[in-house]
Amino acid sequence: RADTAMYQAKASGRNAFRFFTAQMNADVHERLAMQNHLRHAIQQGEFELHYQPQIDLVTGHVSGAEALLRWHSAVLGTVPPARFIPLAEESGLIIPIGEWVLREACRQAQQWREQGLGPMVMAVNVSALQFHRSDPVEMVGRILSETGLPAECLELELTESLLVQDGAGATLETLRRLKALGLRIAIDDFGTGYSSLAYLRRFPIDKLKIDRAFVRDIACDPEDAAIVNLIVDLGRILKLKTIAEGVEDPEQLAFLGARGCNEVQGYLFARPMPGADFAAYLDSALKA
Ligand code: C2E
Ligand code: CA
Ligand code: CA
Ligand code: CA
Repeated sequence: RADTAMYQAKASGRNAFRFFTAQMNADVHERLAMQNHLRHAIQQGEFELHYQPQIDLVTGHVSGAEALLRWHSAVLGTVPPARFIPLAEESGLIIPIGEWVLREACRQAQQWREQGLGPMVMAVNVSALQFHRSDPVEMVGRILSETGLPAECLELELTESLLVQDGAGATLETLRRLKALGLRIAIDDFGTGYSSLAYLRRFPIDKLKIDRAFVRDIACDPEDAAIVNLIVDLGRILKLKTIAEGVEDPEQLAFLGARGCNEVQGYLFARPMPGADFAAYLDSALKA
């Protein structure tokens, strides 16, 4: 039957259109179904955070962790964030989900501190909708006091597009109020969005996170190498820390180290892992 449909799709423009429409309907249907499951995921306890270490290139120590959301759906199985985060953003569900992520990450970081596994900074991804459609300052302040995590142990990863969205005045004000809490701000996926050098000077930013798209071919592609060099130099001039993500091999590490990038994160050191495994990782890193 599929063969027949394919044959007809090829044979006639009209049928090709119908075939394509059926496929689109199936996609829409699947997305709606996924959104419905997503709606119940928090209360069903289907979310989990994994943690990936960030390594200081000078000391070689673990300086922090990035919290990465995992969804183990009872119905759909494990769904990767690249598939469900966009749906969560479209539906507005990212607001309660993002709050769950922040609370869980802060709670976990504070528990590790109390167990003597710190000092460590917990980095949490914040989506544009969360930043613009809710009161992030109130939420972050409330969660810090609920969990007892000192603000200087929290870093928010914001994307460039988030910063240039809507009138920069409101964004700047929100950033200033967040900074006043005492936390740190990193620009995620730096270089992939609408880079505006102006906002780097104006906004109270602490760190540039070099996207793994630039890091991947750093050792063999002169253009990627030049971009990474530029970002690291820019960081130095503007007194911003730089961290490279997606570091997978020793050649990439050597390049970044020679250029003076401050921190690295990637499979070369560890994959994102559940909290219990990360605690064991921290414990052995401290003893080493
Ligand atoms: P991201 O913020 O750029 O996160 C880095 C992604 O690269 C993660 O994918 C991580 O697992 C992966 N990664 C880390 N090291 C390596 C490496 O050496 N090689 C390769 N190939 N990949 C590496 P993940 O966990 O699938 O997350 C994908 C994206 O989903 C994230 O990209 C982020 O944009 C979003 N995301 C994840 N968790 C959250 C969350 O809690 N809130 C929001 N708003 N977005 C999230
Ligand atoms: Ca990130
Ligand atoms: Ca990102
Ligand atoms: Ca990235």
